Amino acid sequence: MGVYDEKPWLGLYPEGLPSGLTIEFDNTVDMFATAVARDPDGDAIRYFDGRISARELDELSDAFAAGLADTGFTAGERVAIYAQNVPQFVIAQLGTWKAGGIAVSVNPMNRQRELELILSDSGASVLVCLEGLYRDVACSVLPRTDVRTVVTTSELEYQTRGDQRVLGGIERIDCDGTIDMSTMLERFRGTAPPAVRLQPDDVALLTYTSGTTGPPKGAMNTHRNVVFNAQTFRDWIGMDSGDVILGVAPLFHITGLIGHVALSLLTGAPLVLLYRFDPEMTIETIRDERVTFAAGSITVFIALMNAPNADKDALASLTNVYSGGAPIPPSTVKAFQKTFGHYINNVYGLTETTSPSHGVPRGADAPVDPTSGALSVGVPVFDTVVRVVGEDGRDLPPGEVGELVTSGPQVVPGYWNKPEETATALPGGELHTGDVGYMDADGWFYLVDRKKDQINAGGYKVWPREVEDVLYEHDAVREAAVVGVADEYRGETVKAFVSLRPGRSVEPDELVAFCKERMAAYKYPRQVEIRDELPKTVTGKLLRRQLRD
Ligand code: AMP
Repeated sequence: MGVYDEKPWLGLYPEGLPSGLTIEFDNTVDMFATAVARDPDGDAIRYFDGRISARELDELSDAFAAGLADTGFTAGERVAIYAQNVPQFVIAQLGTWKAGGIAVSVNPMNRQRELELILSDSGASVLVCLEGLYRDVACSVLPRTDVRTVVTTSELEYQTRGDQRVLGGIERIDCDGTIDMSTMLERFRGTAPPAVRLQPDDVALLTYTSGTTGPPKGAMNTHRNVVFNAQTFRDWIGMDSGDVILGVAPLFHITGLIGHVALSLLTGAPLVLLYRFDPEMTIETIRDERVTFAAGSITVFIALMNAPNADKDALASLTNVYSGGAPIPPSTVKAFQKTFGHYINNVYGLTETTSPSHGVPRGADAPVDPTSGALSVGVPVFDTVVRVVGEDGRDLPPGEVGELVTSGPQVVPGYWNKPEETATALPGGELHTGDVGYMDADGWFYLVDRKKDQINAGGYKVWPREVEDVLYEHDAVREAAVVGVADEYRGETVKAFVSLRPGRSVEPDELVAFCKERMAAYKYPRQVEIRDELPKTVTGKLLRRQLRD
């Protein structure tokens, strides 16, 4: 038995947190039914001034499922959902599951080519789409896909409830030949959804990975994967229906799907949806709605700190703050703590691990590696084994750097219709993450970088993250992304792109000197380019590849 199979990290679990987890529900629909039975009148979703209770969400999603069945939809078919963070996203997702279908989430920033690829790859027969996106993007690609039913819905539908603080009456866009979602929900309200029995291994979601890593593939997140990680989040955080969840991460991404939707469906904690991320509005929303739980990426937290209304009291209601999806340097954690008085917990996972595979146990502060200065991503969560392997596939001892290979109840069985890619990434059901890191002697894990992002400067290997962490220590730097660029002498050399904090200025040479002082000669950036903004995905990951190209 190897060091990783012995799970040395279990010793770091706090007292009272069991080492394993019993999966309480066969599927997401049963999971939500339990929350509805517990508190039918509690808010399930809050959106601007609108409120949807658990009972209403149950009824609306039943109606959606019944409406789908009426179009001839049968279990196992795919429903693509192409929308920003609106309540209809959750209604359609839950309704799809109730009809026995698979929900395919599509990034609303995708344009024609990307949307067509996902619709074709998933073979979706139904598309649920915001009206604006239908008119501007979807409409023209549909003839080339298998989509036979389009359900459109207005961006403004639920915003006009309550005291109409934000927008006036609903202006319908003409979507000829499509089904209007509110008409459908009205018509099928009270009709029982089709009788289907979802099994734990049935696919709940096809989640197309962010696209920063080649052509998108649909990770098949099963009902077991989703229920397991929703329970994991709940138990690690100690969350219940008294919590309030900030819905700021995009719902199409696994962070939003698990850390927002599934967590809310499980616990009954209201999900406060934000249509899109705006730092000032997010701070106002946290304050007004007494939000307790916020999960996002580093760029969200950096933006909040730099918002004009950022002050210590603004986020007083928060009890748990989680950052995932991208590295977070210790300096950002410290700065956030100074501004808002809250510690940011690091959480690590992938689309293929249905969000978290690692987290920082409740009550603990993740250690910082004294040599590299990196913040730990925590320890493997319940029933999860993560091994660090070398080039030859063998386990490496603690402290040695290799690829993280993950197995556990949250790991997907594969990619939709992609046996070759599945066999490569998930041989024997273990996920080869492409992330390079190590475990220390106590069981804390640290990420070094992505395998493919390594820079080879004349044979010297440089991990961009390490250089970025140093740049973040400079108090004028707001964001930093480091890439390898062609160099006649070394083959490749280190280049940094940075954006600055508002009102700050610094010369590129000064930043080069700052890094030179703090790192080995082969590592510091030879070039620094200052930009107003750095390109990032909608989930907040900086797009190193785009900068490199
Ligand atoms: P995605 O599938 O879009 O969720 O991206 C997963 C990738 O994001 C991982 O393979 C990591 O490279 C990166 N990632 C996720 N969480 C963290 C974290 N806490 N620290 C560093 N990188 C992370």
